[in-house]
Amino acid sequence: MDLHKKVRIVGAGLAGSEAAWQCARRGVAVELFEMRPARTTPAHQTQDFAELVCSNSLKSESEHTAPWLLKEEMRRSGSRLLEIARETAVPAGHALAVDRAEFSRKVTEAISAEPLITIRREEVTEIDPEQLTVIATGPLTSDALSQEIVRLSTSGGDLSPSTAPLPHSSLFFYDSISPIVEADSIDMSKVYLAARYDKGSADYINCPMSKDEYDRFYDALLAAQSVDQKDWENLNYFESCLPIEEIARRGRDTLRFGPMKPVGLKDPRTGRIPYAAVQLRQENLRADSYNLVGFQNHLKFGEQAHVLSLIPGLENARFLRYGQIHRNTYINSPSLLNKTLTMKAHPEVMFAGQICGVEGYVESIATGMMAGMNAAALATGGEPVPPPRATALGSLIHYITAAESRTFQPANITFDLLPALETRVRDRKERHRQQCELALREFDEWHHRHVWQTGAAPTGARSGSKR
Ligand SMILES: Cc1cc2nc3c(=O)[nH]c(=O)nc-3n(C[C@H](O)[C@H](O)[C@H](O)COP(=O)(O)OP(=O)(O)OC[C@H]3O[C@@H](n4cnc5c(N)ncnc54)[C@H](O)[C@@H]3O)c2cc1C
Repeated sequence: MDLHKKVRIVGAGLAGSEAAWQCARRGVAVELFEMRPARTTPAHQTQDFAELVCSNSLKSESEHTAPWLLKEEMRRSGSRLLEIARETAVPAGHALAVDRAEFSRKVTEAISAEPLITIRREEVTEIDPEQLTVIATGPLTSDALSQEIVRLSTSGGDLSPSTAPLPHSSLFFYDSISPIVEADSIDMSKVYLAARYDKGSADYINCPMSKDEYDRFYDALLAAQSVDQKDWENLNYFESCLPIEEIARRGRDTLRFGPMKPVGLKDPRTGRIPYAAVQLRQENLRADSYNLVGFQNHLKFGEQAHVLSLIPGLENARFLRYGQIHRNTYINSPSLLNKTLTMKAHPEVMFAGQICGVEGYVESIATGMMAGMNAAALATGGEPVPPPRATALGSLIHYITAAESRTFQPANITFDLLPALETRVRDRKERHRQQCELALREFDEWHHRHVWQTGAAPTGARSGSKR
């Protein structure tokens, strides 16, 4: 008699396919639900699993970069999708890019051939919180399931003030992302620290502009090209998070009365209020980076690089992320999830992929892998142990579960999600090399001690087994 619980996985995208395979590889049976082709999303075009809806790049393969570190940890854990990505790679310099059709075809083939995975081509609209389930329905989760997730997020378990989700912030539909800049690339001689009207501590970096500087910036912003808008995106921007170029189109001074308003921001060096000011706010868990407050925009990345370099102090800034606005369904993970990706209020329900607040193909596969491992552990009576904080996987999960819940936004893997080294290393390359080495040491130890011990021994594990 099979005493293992069966795992339901909803969504056979990047995260769901990887999660299913990780369960099966550990001898755990899976029911994998995929709504395509019966019902499709506005971005998917095929009925294959793990379709890459936009670019075909799985980011850098250069040693000692953050995307490399995450992939290296996934490789050491036996990520099946990463393995297929390597099998279907196309030349792309230092990046891992794939033949997208071949990639999805091979993932579909591998998952369909797995005897422990039963595929159900149907839309899931209800979740039974008593049943072990991984929700991996991505940024374009169907409407009916989105409503079900809101219901789940606001019900059950211990809804004391410390764990209760905020009803309106439990599910987001648009991602409006401000650019993020590396702190040590800001020219501090041109900016000053101050809080508006000196209220609270002077945590903001203010970039002051003269009239001439403002006019130059304004003209460049209006001339910059936006990202092509797909019909289905039809964004109908919310008034409270308009892109800066949209605000600028309403008049030359609108930005000076909006996100660039200088009132209450006296420059201590001149004793005067500047003509306009851009405020930079420190990211919560990103110790060495600042976001440009209210600077969400829909411009092409190259255009942003030019326009933002006209802001005093940012002439040579390095951007960790550019502004973006796109449809994105994601939960408020810091208030809803444990570090094992299980819901605080419903311990049998897990989330993985973009819907849990990570951003990007590799990050989605990575959290799918973790959810699959954890679900397999739970299904076989084991207890999942999250990866250490010093690892890329651990840092990503730490970010989505420990960030400030009111301002939570999805994140890619970057070095500023990883903890700082105990000893400060000035040279960036050397610092990153040391962070990677520490991460991999801790990763190997965790993987050796916990990963297989938490559940059943691996099955034949095909070519994915690295042990
Ligand atoms: C338009 C767009 C472009 C993007 N471009 C990039 C990019 O270029 N590079 C990058 O790194 N990231 C990109 N992303 C972000 C993200 O990496 C991808 O969306 C990625 O596919 C997310 O993986 P996932 O597994 O979470 O979701 P998906 O890969 O979208 O998988 C979710 C699956 O769930 C299915 N599903 C949805 N609802 C249900 C339901 N109720 N029942 C059953 N099945 C359901 C869907 O059909 C889908 O197959 C983009 C996102 C969007 C929306």
